[in-house]
Formats: sequence, structure tokens, C-alpha cells
Amino acid sequence: MKEKLTSLLSTALEKIKGVQRIEELEQYKVKFLGKKGELTGILRGMGSLAPEERPIIGQIANEVKEQIQRAIEEKTAILEEKLIEDKLQRETIDISLPGLKREVGALHPLTIVRREIEQIFMSMGYEIVEGPEIETDYYNFEALNLPPNHPARDMQDTFYITDNILLRTHTSPVQARTMEKRADAIPLKIISPGRVFRKDDDATHSPMFHQVEGLVIDKNITLGDLKGTLLLFAKEMFGEKQKVRLRPSYFPFTEPSAEVDISCFLCEGKGCSLCSQTGWIEILGAGMVHPNVLRAGGYNPDEVQGFAFGMGVERITMLKYGISDIRELFNGDLRVVKQFARG
Ligand SMILES: [Zn+2]
Repeated sequence: MKEKLTSLLSTALEKIKGVQRIEELEQYKVKFLGKKGELTGILRGMGSLAPEERPIIGQIANEVKEQIQRAIEEKTAILEEKLIEDKLQRETIDISLPGLKREVGALHPLTIVRREIEQIFMSMGYEIVEGPEIETDYYNFEALNLPPNHPARDMQDTFYITDNILLRTHTSPVQARTMEKRADAIPLKIISPGRVFRKDDDATHSPMFHQVEGLVIDKNITLGDLKGTLLLFAKEMFGEKQKVRLRPSYFPFTEPSAEVDISCFLCEGKGCSLCSQTGWIEILGAGMVHPNVLRAGGYNPDEVQGFAFGMGVERITMLKYGISDIRELFNGDLRVVKQFARG
């Protein structure tokens, strides 16, 4: 019996040593040590032993059992460690490989400039008001002193949806709507940024473009207030050295009206190709609000005055960033926008 036990031990240790998978160890445990296993099988013969031999064989059997158990445990630990190592090996990350580059988004230059304009006027206490892009003839023309058949309507090449409904040609209808809504409340200090539409399409005109219009109504408002406001705007937008110049002009909704020039920021007034050698660059139209417009808005022109101005966001953007063709702003070329990406 002793020999049987010794041979069982050496067979078992040999088998366990050669095991490659943890599952096999489980099978060997059952085979050698289980209730119907080989060790139990041998010990069944204990009954035929002399009584004095039994404790000796019992002790040997225990040692065999312990050794097999220990061998299985050790092998299990080795195989588990190997499993983890294999897994780590498979999942190794090569930190020296270049990562995937994440594209950085950028605001469109028109958005940057529009926000800048808004910021400048908000710092002067203006409120931002928006209105519909699809307008009625009344708010787009009539309330702004352009009655039906007024010759100035020829100036506006309008997209009509019906005889009475159109795509707004300027953001001035927002002014008309706001005056009407606020009744005769003063002071009124608003800017209205937004998209406008005209049938124009060339290097400096787009059928869809952006305007920011401003309106101030209060008592004792003069042309000097308008000029001072625009000078401050020009300095903030184009630099401290800016000067402004008002040239007489005509708009149906203002009287008197003016084209507003700023001194050329490229040549500082000396004359260059950007300013056509004049030293001045036209940036917007403005004027004192026409009494008829005030009346249509519910104000009494004998008691209050106002000034209004309107500028094209595209024009300011093109000047500021030296863009010569307006279509570059709309053709969706990411290279244009990417120049404005931060870091
Ligand atoms: Zn110049």
C-alpha cells in the first residue's frame, strides 16, 4: 500500500507539473483526491492491514494528500499569474505612438465681429433686440417713411414672398417694431443685429448678409451725440487713433442723413489702395430719425429726437481682416475659418 501511495504521489505531481490550463487542475483534483478518486480508492484497502500498520499508512496517506493539494495550489497560482501576464501583454498600449489629433473648432469671423460690435454697444448701455427675418411690407418700408410708390423703394432690390410679405432688406423693421411696442418710452437705446436679404451678388455684395442697426431716442438728442457714439465705436473696433467723418447723404428714414467714414487704419490717413488714396473708409450710414418715423413709432417729434445708424457686419469684417471678396465668408472653406481658431 505504501508503494501504491508513493506511486500515486509521483504520478500526480508529474501530471500537475505538466498542466497548462487551470481547468485541467480542477479535473486532476477530482481524479486524485475526490470522493471517488484514486487516493480514496487506495485507502479502502486499509481494512486488510494489520492494526499497527494503519496509523503509519494513514500518516503517509495524509502527507500524499497534502503534497498533491499544495502542488495544485502552487500550480494554480502560477497559471493565474501567467493569465494576467498574457492579458497585459495582449493589451499593451504603445505610449510612443502619436495620438489622434482632435480638430479644434473656431467661431466664424462674422460671429466674432458681430459679438465684438454687440459688446461695444452693450458697454455703452444699449440693449440687443431681435426681430423676424420674414417681414411685412409695413414694417420693412412703410413705417420707415417709405410709403408705397416711394422712389426710394427702387434702392431696395427685395425678395418678395407675396405682395405684402418679404425677406427683410435691413434690420430697421426691428426698430419700428420696438418703438411701437415700447409706446413712447424714453430713453430707448437699442441695437438690432441680424440677417438681411437683397438681390445682390458680387465680390462685395451677398444676397444674404448681416447688419447691426442702432437706434437712440430721448430728449435733446443731437447729431453730436451720434458722432460721439460712432467715434467711440470706431476707436474700440479699429484702434485709438481713429477719426470719424460725416458726409451728407440721403436715407428715407433719417433727416439729415450721413455716410460715415473712418480714417484709414492701414495708412493712417495718408492714402493707400485700401482707401482709394483718400485716407478715409466708408463704414456705415446714419442720421437723425425722420419725424415721420418717430410719429409712426408713437413718439412726438416735437418732444423727442433720435439718431439711428446701420452697418454691415461683412463690411467691417472684411476691412478688419483684409478679406477682399465677400464670398470667401460664405463658401464654407474651412481654411478661412481655421485661421480664427484659438491655439
Ligand atoms: Zn489708406
